[in-house]
Amino acid sequence: MVSNTQPDTGRHELLDVHDPATGDVIGQVPVHTEADVNAAVDRARVAAATWAALDPNVRRDHLLAFRRELINRVDELCDLIHRENGKPRYDAIQELFLAASHLTFAATRAPKVMKTRTVSSGILVNIKSTVSHVPLGVVGVIGPWNYPVFTPMGSIGYALAAGNAVVFKPSELTPLTGQALADAFAAAVPIADVFQVVTGDGRTGGALSGAAVDKLAFTGSAATGRRVMEAAARNLTPVVMELGGKDPLIVAADADVDAAADAAVFGALTNAGQACVSVERAYVVDSVYDRFLDKVVDGASTVRMGSDDDAQIGAITRPQQVEKIRDQLEDAVSKGAKVLVGGPDAIEGSWVPPTVVVDVDTSMKLMQEETFGPVLPVIKVGDAEEAIERANNDGFNLGSAVFGSAGIRQMADRIRAGMTAINSVMTFSTISALPFGGVGESGFGRIHGDEGIKEFTLTKSTAEQRFALPGMGAAFAPDNKAAYKQMKGMLGQLFGGGVVDKAESIVRRVRR
Ligand code: NAD
Repeated sequence: MVSNTQPDTGRHELLDVHDPATGDVIGQVPVHTEADVNAAVDRARVAAATWAALDPNVRRDHLLAFRRELINRVDELCDLIHRENGKPRYDAIQELFLAASHLTFAATRAPKVMKTRTVSSGILVNIKSTVSHVPLGVVGVIGPWNYPVFTPMGSIGYALAAGNAVVFKPSELTPLTGQALADAFAAAVPIADVFQVVTGDGRTGGALSGAAVDKLAFTGSAATGRRVMEAAARNLTPVVMELGGKDPLIVAADADVDAAADAAVFGALTNAGQACVSVERAYVVDSVYDRFLDKVVDGASTVRMGSDDDAQIGAITRPQQVEKIRDQLEDAVSKGAKVLVGGPDAIEGSWVPPTVVVDVDTSMKLMQEETFGPVLPVIKVGDAEEAIERANNDGFNLGSAVFGSAGIRQMADRIRAGMTAINSVMTFSTISALPFGGVGESGFGRIHGDEGIKEFTLTKSTAEQRFALPGMGAAFAPDNKAAYKQMKGMLGQLFGGGVVDKAESIVRRVRR
């Protein structure tokens, strides 16, 4: 079985799993091969038929049992996430809370969202038109390491709730957490192979991208996303791309500046900045800039880094990421940026301290690329208009945040991002009913919300003729010339200013 928790030492290459805080090896997992992945997909296809045939309410109950099993194992899971990812155990439990909320939403909403609905058939009154959402079959999920439970659950939970079997490839940095999810599922749901985990690195992910799955949900970097799309294109496999962001936060002149500064510090530093919707740029209107910056510097200076239970942020999970953060900061400093807290010289091993930088511009890598570290560049702008313009044009947005009062909703609407938080940060990802996803470089497709359930379904239209209408329907006309004349008359009446067209205009005016 692929979702085993023990490495198959006889057959597979093994991958070491490290604790990022110490560098110690804490486990090993097999690198599953293309043949393993294909075999898992084949088993999933069989399981998918059983899973899809269940009453949606029975599927819901199985998924709620899975949720309860996760919560039964909460301490074990939090310890594992802490050791594998480096985040404090309190962050790990928050992640589990969010994952459980999403699983509940997906499980309980799916039976309603997938219910067949009747739609208007227009003038074809003899036809009953319905739209159904049916399971796709097998969904491949490829996940990142930064939120090893919450992030993939946004795809796994929704795909399962929509009646699909899932083959999940967790990140090579957090495969033990992935296996723990499969173990909890197996303990709670007595149907084999509905949810399997394959472990390994990019090779295993590549095999899943090219496998005979019905949809791929990828969460990770844009560079890998492009490779996944290339492999998926060979089979025309549809994909959801959940990628990164260089998310802006805007502070208008009439904002609650203290609240905005607290939120900016949290949004930039939580999970050591390793969130796809981290605040990566703060644009602050001139009149409140100094107050905001003072408060941000105070706040960032007091954030505790460590691996004990009182720490607020942990070590950077991926060793190469430390070098990327250092490089971005050194590049910025060499081009004139000023470090107010932390900075490149304060980085030690896998520990990157909270960092606040000013005097930045778009020539710097820090302002062009996702940082994915605990770094907040703060930029002074003349007014909210300039802030919106720069938020939209200087980087790429997955999420975003705006702080202010007058016209704040309109301001939020003008930010080109999948999500915007008003007078808070990141809250959109905690609300299960809100769809989540990107635009442009930050990806496409939606997880979470009703849209996240529909994303993993085939939208199927059915037109059921209940009785025949003479002259209407799928048959050749006995006399084309007469039928042409009849159709022309009908076109005029319906769409060309005739009686029906006029009547509809009146009704629209009255209803307006
Ligand atoms: P990554 O792109 O390095 O890896 C993601 C996954 O892809 C891993 O499981 C990896 O093994 C796999 N992979 C690597 N090469 C592959 C290949 N050739 N084919 C198929 N799969 C392959 O990303 P990461 O470092 O794990 O995650 C960080 C990135 O993820 C950041 O950019 C972050 O913003 C983004 N992210 C996005 C969201 C979101 O919901 N939009 C959530 C979390 C993280």
